[in-house]
Amino acid sequence: MVAFSSGEQPMRAFLDVPDDELKSWLAQQGQPPMRARQIRRWLLQARAETFEQMTDLPQALRLELPRTYSLFGTRIDRALHATDGTNKLLLRLDDENLIECVLLHEEDRHTACISTQVGCGMGCVFCASGLNGVARNLTPGEILEQLIRLRNLLPDTQRLTHVVVMGMGEPLANLDALLAALAVTTDRHGLGLSARHITISTVGLPAKMRRLAELKKQYHLAVSLHAPNDALRTRIVPTNEKTGLSEILAAADDFYAQTGRQVTYEYVLLGGLNDRLEQAEELARLLRGRQAHINLIPFNDVEGLPYRRPAQGAVTDFVNRLRRQGLVVHVRKRKGADIDAACGQLRRSALSSAVPASSGGDLVPLGIPPLTRT
Ligand code: SAH
Repeated sequence: MVAFSSGEQPMRAFLDVPDDELKSWLAQQGQPPMRARQIRRWLLQARAETFEQMTDLPQALRLELPRTYSLFGTRIDRALHATDGTNKLLLRLDDENLIECVLLHEEDRHTACISTQVGCGMGCVFCASGLNGVARNLTPGEILEQLIRLRNLLPDTQRLTHVVVMGMGEPLANLDALLAALAVTTDRHGLGLSARHITISTVGLPAKMRRLAELKKQYHLAVSLHAPNDALRTRIVPTNEKTGLSEILAAADDFYAQTGRQVTYEYVLLGGLNDRLEQAEELARLLRGRQAHINLIPFNDVEGLPYRRPAQGAVTDFVNRLRRQGLVVHVRKRKGADIDAACGQLRRSALSSAVPASSGGDLVPLGIPPLTRT
């Protein structure tokens, strides 16, 4: 439900309030503009979860702020903790839409995987996020809030180290909002992450890839290929019909030329569809001569879809064939399998039933268990 202030106006989520608006509101309260930075520091750096916790603000201001603004625009609808340590949050937006975000732990790395849209409009045939299309773009504040919510799950001694924009939605279809959120993510007065530790994954929208390249930021770009030729890619990734592989590869080459950042190509392995050795050979030919890095993702099952994960042997053969052709290949490890950690799956099961999304595993409501990893 939307929160209402006493004047029956919907409350504004703090992170989506423009700086000049906040400063003029502060002036009306008789407060100096520096309070804006002070409040943001509490939220972005000091992990405050209420205005009341901002102890160096005057008491009157601490009482007035929540009458006009809500510190968070999202509410935690469900919080899951997998046996391998992975955390997943299902967040409810102020219009009742649901989005997902995930926190993955690997030694000293704590990686947030975030969404940029409610649903997805790209329609990749194997992906749970796009099954009901796209409802709307997320605001910059809603994108950033996922990072804050996930970071606040970490003990004080740990920080977010990496971000992957690989949750629900097509990030480049909501590029302005994403860039605004990432500007705060990389600001030293914001979340202070390095742009080099942020990966943006795209279905391949060439014009937007070029726009991103022109900004010359050090973000890492990952392009979802999933097939070595246009005929097969159009079957798996319907948007390919309009774009085509050669345009996408040209835009990726341009990104590398402009930023010096190597592009990663993602390839979801779908048993019997794109995992044959001839297809590995064809993929190697397609990427030959590029500083390419391939990330193979064995398909995570989605209930109701006819695709399947290839056998482990088939994955190994595919990898070896690519490596023999001189390509750098990684296989993505499966994480959080017992909490539907693959994008779009938890929201989908939450929408279709009122019971917890996953069968088995140790589903633990968060807020209760401390993280056990150090
Ligand atoms: N729209 C962006 C982000 C999608 S999520 C993109 O297309 O890149 C990040 C990656 O996970 C994409 O490569 C996507 O194709 C892949 N993915 C989606 N559903 C999956 C599933 N069920 N199993 C394995 N990978 C999946």
